[in-house]
Formats: sequence, structure tokens, C-alpha cells
Amino acid sequence: MTTYTPMMQQYLSIKADYEDAFLFFRLGDFYELFFEDALKASQILEITLTGRDAGGDERVPMCGVPYHSAQSYIETLVSKGYKVAICEQVEDPKQAKGVVKREVIQLITPGTMIEGKTIDNKSNIFIGCAERISDHEFAFAYLDVSTGEAKSFIIEGGVKGLFQQLQAYNIRELVVTDELKILLQEQAANLGIVLSIENEEMHDEKANNYLLHLPKKCFGVAKYLLQYIERTQMRSLSHIQPFTYTETKQYLQIDANSKRNLELLQSIRGKDQKGTLLWLLDETVTAMGGRKLKQWLHQPLANRAQIEERLNTVTDLLDEFFLRDELRELLKSVYDLERLSGRVAFGNVGGRDLAQLRESLRQVPTIKEKLLESNKETLINLASKMDACEDIEQLLSRAITDHPPVAIKEGDVIREGYNQKLDELRYIARNGKDWIAQLEQKERELTGIKNLKIGFNRIFGYYIEVTKSNLSNVDLSRYHRKQTLANAERFITEELKEKETQILNAEEQSLALEYELFVELREQLKAYIPRVQQLASIISELDVYLSFAVVSEKYQFTKPTFHEGKGLKIIGGRHPVVEKMLNKQGYVPNDCVLTEEKNMMLITGPNMSGKSTYMRQVALIVIMAQMGCYVPCDEAELPITDQIFTRIGAADDLASGQSTFMVEMLESQHAITNATEKSLLLFDEIGRGTSTYDGMALAQAMMEYIHDHIGANTLFSTHYHELTALEEVLERLQNVHVSAVEKNGNVVFLHKVKKGAADKSYGVHVAKLANMPEKIIERARILLEEFESQQIDNSAPQIEEEVHQLSLFEEDVEPKQEKKSLKSHEQEVLKRLEKVNIVSMTPM
Ligand code: ADP
Repeated sequence: MTTYTPMMQQYLSIKADYEDAFLFFRLGDFYELFFEDALKASQILEITLTGRDAGGDERVPMCGVPYHSAQSYIETLVSKGYKVAICEQVEDPKQAKGVVKREVIQLITPGTMIEGKTIDNKSNIFIGCAERISDHEFAFAYLDVSTGEAKSFIIEGGVKGLFQQLQAYNIRELVVTDELKILLQEQAANLGIVLSIENEEMHDEKANNYLLHLPKKCFGVAKYLLQYIERTQMRSLSHIQPFTYTETKQYLQIDANSKRNLELLQSIRGKDQKGTLLWLLDETVTAMGGRKLKQWLHQPLANRAQIEERLNTVTDLLDEFFLRDELRELLKSVYDLERLSGRVAFGNVGGRDLAQLRESLRQVPTIKEKLLESNKETLINLASKMDACEDIEQLLSRAITDHPPVAIKEGDVIREGYNQKLDELRYIARNGKDWIAQLEQKERELTGIKNLKIGFNRIFGYYIEVTKSNLSNVDLSRYHRKQTLANAERFITEELKEKETQILNAEEQSLALEYELFVELREQLKAYIPRVQQLASIISELDVYLSFAVVSEKYQFTKPTFHEGKGLKIIGGRHPVVEKMLNKQGYVPNDCVLTEEKNMMLITGPNMSGKSTYMRQVALIVIMAQMGCYVPCDEAELPITDQIFTRIGAADDLASGQSTFMVEMLESQHAITNATEKSLLLFDEIGRGTSTYDGMALAQAMMEYIHDHIGANTLFSTHYHELTALEEVLERLQNVHVSAVEKNGNVVFLHKVKKGAADKSYGVHVAKLANMPEKIIERARILLEEFESQQIDNSAPQIEEEVHQLSLFEEDVEPKQEKKSLKSHEQEVLKRLEKVNIVSMTPM
């Protein structure tokens, strides 16, 4: 190390503290990277790799990015899961003795990157922290550095439960201790979650304010997380709010799989939001409202009074058509108060940000007034919680100009009249300019040169410019030559020189003072942050209520009612997203009635008839209702559901390398072990991933178990027609089927759910819809008839016996005799038909 230049030694000693980050080392107008960092970054960022003599034997690999465009490079690295340490020159190079002092001023990580093009305004950026507190429990805390929201809860279900929550909240960075890292690292890497180490907790005195609402078992995680944020961000955390604690029971629990299966926030096919419930519900007009809506969707309520309060607010807004429009119009001028507060706290707020804050606050008194005038209790309540922050608005109005520029060091930020000294300096600078204009006029007259002009540039200051052809008219005793151009000469006079000093001084001083005042104001504003955050929270709530009212009206939703029992009654229910996709045409509404006595439903019907859509719509209605939104049906009387579990095909967990059937069983196991009688279970086509009898046996056993031991409201769909016989045995089970009719040899799906079991398999017809060659279809029809006539009575109670005789691992469980009696080409057809996976086929 000693052979390196002092600067490189400085680099190496700083880099030693940031092993796991790219060190962006400020050198003049560039951030430079060296050694390994340079090799890796030049590849990832596709920038040129060079070298630098640094005293050692060989040139040190180096690459760099210009300071002013560094942001996008930083973003690229961080969004790929890397960390970037920003190392700045912390003293003026002109005053430095020896190597300029440098320090890391911020560590930007995937969970703390809050600025940039990739940031979605309507999404939170959460960073999490977990600590194991028992075999199956983790204390968990998470916060959004950009908005200051901080929350905590206990995660159950061990490591699996933890990862489910991390995915559900889209957490890209998790802070853990060394010990926990070892346990989690493999799976975290698979899921692209960065694990960051924090082995020290924040001091109690510092942390106390943040822990007010937390139970003791969450202190640790909160303190680790705060410590990590403070250590990496190296600046004020004044906008971070006290952690709130949520008991999981307060919310309708929906595990990450179910959120995905039901396409609440993400569609199954991709990251795209189109086709999700969020996409349908989001009519919010502010970024804060958009984020709040997502939070409500993540955590619908499980407390009846709170749900009803939300629903009543929506009702009141629905009653007030004009008010609703006015409020939404006003909200459109409200900027992101939460993130603005964050930037105030971080000290990177600019003039334009403060103008946005002011503009936003200006809307509040009117919003408040309108709510108060409404005469609606819920709206008046909302208004009374609103602190209009008028004093802050007044301060900003006095201090900040109407249209401040983005930069804060170039003036035009602070308004006239805010500070006397500033006004004086500005007066001198401005008058100086008038004076110059007059001087120009005077000199033109004196010299008779019409095109004489006075100009200014940064190097030479003020000058009088005379074109070559007019030089003979210049009085050289007064005019001193300053600069020669191709066809002009530039001069200065004593008089101009004197004024120049005055003007430039005044200008320089006024800019410096203005900056000083701005920083002062920014500091002063920090004290107001909690109030602005509080206001932001209520405004975002209002935005979500308005959004609910808008969609409820647009799609003709109905207000649900709740009761203490278990029964669930939905009349004329629709799947809101499918309905919207169908453009309202032809969506067939369906009832779903589960009573205390009969709260399990077995749904049969051909593929593509709408079984899955039906089950999903019930879940969506329950979720929407508990979020406090109206629901897509004519009538809904609902219980308070505590948890929703779904086992719905399609979203198979390819990443974990488990087979479809294994995933199916794991999800079912998760549901069955965690469900209570207040839960809602949806099982779509259980057991289809294994051979017929195997699958059928499992499906039946599961239904029996849920029936006897859990008692949850349950919807089961199946293509095992045999299972419908269970209705006789399980008293709380009812059969329904989705009907289809045959028209001219084709299947026409009616999508209508009716009482009783379906009576016929429509597989062959679906194959026809799929354009299967006519010959195969013909032959299959004949075979089907043969099978049906040969079919032994497979009523459900016999299944058990048969299963005992079958090996679990034997794939081919079809009765072999039947096959032998077929001719070879018939066998071929049968084989091919067997291979057709109708369940996963589209009609096309
Ligand atoms: P299954 O689960 O029985 O295979 P799906 O629920 O996937 O069937 O439905 C297949 C398609 O039928 C859906 O994509 C949708 O377009 C349409 N569909 C389902 N239910 C309805 C309905 N109630 N009204 C109109 N179209 C429906």
C-alpha cells in the first residue's frame, strides 16, 4: 500500500469500509471507480475501462462517470441490486493542504434509493428488517425512507412466511444480523432480495421516540433498521415517523400466493398492472393516494366498525356528486406531500419543491371547507382531522418566489420583502444594470458610434465593444483596450470599471445571502414535517375514498353489509375485472349463498365454463368489501373474514424448482394448517396434478378434513365428477355446477352457476373448439360413449378402498383391460387424447 500515491491510499482506506458497495470517488467533475469496482462497473454500465498511474507497479484499472450525469448510472447499479457509496470532496480543493479530504456522504442501496427515473410515484419503496424471535415467528419492521412511514408486525410461518411477506410488500432489501443472513441467503438470492448486515442496534435514547407504539419484541428490529438507515444515509431522520404496530388480526390476511393468484396488485402473466384489481380500483389523483390504495389492498380491514366507517364515507361521497368532482379537481393540485417532507428532512429539497409544497397547502383550506359544508358526518370527521398548515403556507408564500428555478444557488428563489439585506443588495445589482444601459447610450452619443455596445462575460467582466470600422472614433485616453476579436475591439473605462466592482459584489453577495436564507428556511421547515405528514395521510385517505366512490358509480357497485355470523350471501355477483375486460357485454352475474349450515360448495362444470372466475369473484368481493369499497353485485351480506387462502392453478412456482403438484400440495397444506372457521378457502381443481385416483382421493380427504375440523367457508371446484356424491355424506356441502349447452354439436358456455352437479363431461367439445382434427373428435365421441356405457359406478365412498390398493407413485392407473381390447389405432387416439391437457388449454 505504501507504494501508492497519497490519493490512492486515501481511496483504499475509504474503500476498506465499503467492501460490498461500488465506491464512487469524486475527482473534480467525475466520480471515478478503481480496481475491481472499475472492472465490474465498466461492464455493467458499458463505459470505457482505462487505467491510472497510482504509484504502484502497474496502472490501476479505472473508469468514471461525469458528476452531473451520475444519477442514472447509480440508478442502474442499484436497481440491479448493488450498493453505491458516494464519496465527496469535503473541503475546498483550493484550501486543501496535500490530498483533498474526502468522505462517504451516503450509501445508496436498493431499499433506500428514493430519487430517480425508475421510481414509481404510486409505489412505496420499503426496506425491511427481520429478527427471529421463535421457531416460527419473526419480528419484522419496514419503512419507506422517502415518505417516513414506519411499520412493524410479527410474521408467522417461519422462513417461508417471511419470504412471502417480503414478496407481498415488494421488499428488495432486508436488514439482518450476520447470524440470520446465513439462514436466509440462498433463498434471498433466488428472489433477488439483497441482505444487508446490521449487527448494532441504535442507542435507546435516540430510538425511544420511534418505539412508542411497539411491543417489546419488535424493539430489536426497529432499532436495527434505524441504525442501518442512519449509518447509510448519514443525515437527519427527522421525517421518519414512530413505528406503528399492527396485530395481524386487525387485517384480513391474504398470503402472497393468493395475492398473486387473485391478481390483486400484479397480474399472473407479468409485472403489468393491467387486469389487476388495483388497475380497476385506482382512480386516485395523487401519488400519495395511489400508495395508500395499494396499502389498503395489501391489508383490507378485519374490524367491522372500521370497515363500516370507510363504507359510510364512500356513501356520503356518492351522495355528493358535485362535491366529489370539486374535491378531485382540488386534489389534482396537491403534490406528493409525503415525499416532499422526506426531501425537506434529507436537506435535498429545492426551490421548486417548496413552491410545490406551497401550492399543495394552498388547496387545503378549500378542501377542508368543502368537506365541512357537506353536512355529512363522515366528511366532517375527516375535515376535523385536517390541520390546514396555514402558517407553513404563509411562511412559504412570504419566502419563495412564484416560479423558483430548480437550482438553489442561482437566485430567484427568495421573494422580495422577505429579507431587507437581500432587497438592498438586489437593488444595487439591478440599478447597476440600468446604469449600464444608460452608460451605453451616453457613450454612443459621445463617440457617435451607433452600434457601440456594452457587454459582459465571466472572464473579462463588463466591456465596451466597438467594431473595427469605427475604431477611429474612439478616444484612447479614456478607453483602455481589454480584448481583441476578429472584427471588434473591447475596451474598459475607469467609470465602468468602478461600477463593475460594485455590481458584481452586490450580485455575488445577494446570491450567497439568498442561498443562506434558503438553507435557514429549509432547517426551519423540518420542525413542521410531522404536521405535513399527518395532513398527507388524511389527504391520501380522502383520495382513496374518492377513488372508491368513482369506481363504485362507474361500475355500478353496491354497498355490502356485514354481520357477526359466518353466512355469506352474494346476489348477482360479478368479477369486476373480467367484466371490465368484456366491456360489460355479456358478463353473466352469479349468486353465491353459503349459510351457517351449508358453507361448502363443490363446483363442477366443463373447462372454460367459468368455475375459476366464479370462485375468484367471491374472493374479490370479500376483499373489496373489507377494504371499505362497494362491491360488484346487487346485494352482499358478508361475514368478517379473517384470512383468505387460495389454491388456484396457473401461477406455478417455477423459480423454486418444485413440481406443479408439489406446489399444489404445499399451498393446500398452508391453507389447511392456518385456516380458521372465519376464513375463506378457494380450491380450484385440487389434485389435477397427479393421477386420477390419487388426485380424487386427496381432494376428497381434504374436503372431509375442512368439513370436520376447520369449518371455513369453502369453494371447491373439480372435474372429478365422482366427488359430487360427497354431498350425501358431508352435510355442510352443496353441489353447484356451471352450465353449458350444446348447440349444433358445439358447446355454448352459459357461465351460469346452478344448483346440483354437472352431468356430463364436455372435454371433447372443448377439443373441438380447439380445432382438433375432425377425425379425432369423431373417434373420441365414439370412445366416450363406449366408456360411459362401460363405466363402473364410481361413486365417492368407494374411492377410499381403491386408493389403498394403488401405489402412490404409480402413474398409469387406468384400468388396463380396457386398453387391451382396443385396436392399435384406437389405442393411438386414446393415447393422444390422454396427453391432451385440457385444463391448461385455451379455446383457441
Ligand atoms: P374454468 O375455471 O371453468 O375453466 P374460467 O373461470 O377460467 O373457467 O372462465 C373461462 C372464461 O370464461 C373466462 O376467461 C371469461 O372470459 C369467461 N367467463 C367466465 N365467467 C363468466 C361469466 N360469468 N360471464 C361471462 N363470461 C365469463
